[in-house]
Amino acid sequence: MEQTLNQHNILAQYACFAAGCAAVLFSIIKSLLLTTTAQAWLWSMLATVAAYLLADLGTGIYHWAIDNYGGPQTPIFGPQIVGFQGHHHRPMEITKMDIVHNVHDTAAVVAAVATPINLLCRDPVLLAFIGAFGGFVMFSQQFHAWSHTPSGRLPRMVAALQDARVILRRAEHAAHHRPPFSTNYCIVSGVWNRALDRSYFFVALEVAVAAVFGHEPRSWSEPRTDWWEKSGIK
Ligand SMILES: [Zn+2]
Ligand SMILES: [Zn+2]
Repeated sequence: MEQTLNQHNILAQYACFAAGCAAVLFSIIKSLLLTTTAQAWLWSMLATVAAYLLADLGTGIYHWAIDNYGGPQTPIFGPQIVGFQGHHHRPMEITKMDIVHNVHDTAAVVAAVATPINLLCRDPVLLAFIGAFGGFVMFSQQFHAWSHTPSGRLPRMVAALQDARVILRRAEHAAHHRPPFSTNYCIVSGVWNRALDRSYFFVALEVAVAAVFGHEPRSWSEPRTDWWEKSGIK
């Protein structure tokens, strides 16, 4: 019974991964087919660069939010909140998971958002943006996993992309793993980390959230053991 459930889980993860990849490829191919002028080509290139930069920023804001707010019982996001807290305590576990396991959650969201846009939209620039943004966000958790992987175990291409700072480097992400886990949240390339941390962007957001909603972020307090016990994380 348990084995059947596991098989269903794995099949569902592969289905999400395939749907996410298909949606991203569909956006990119449709954009290329609709790009008929040099001007549209140029705008599509700019949209791709913008998507790459915004994906890094988006992952940083999302990571900050689930690291600091909510708990195991939070609807929809509960399992991810538990997963990210567990990752702080057992950072190497992510390197033992395969890519499908690491990205299937985001792939499902990318497929759900991008598919209707792909079907309705005929603007090559918007499609280029959607394809690139969806792709970078979808694979961000794998970039994150690679930033924890010892360089000797990385595919050469991945190590080269890390060295060129195109994707998240080990040193860039290592700074996040120092308690209270309150800096270097971005996980696509980490290009925003320095500006966000030096400008106290997240600290300002935390002060605003505390003032308006009365919720202090987890990073302001010591790790709460009662929360760990409740979440089942040892
Ligand atoms: Zn974190
Ligand atoms: Zn990490």
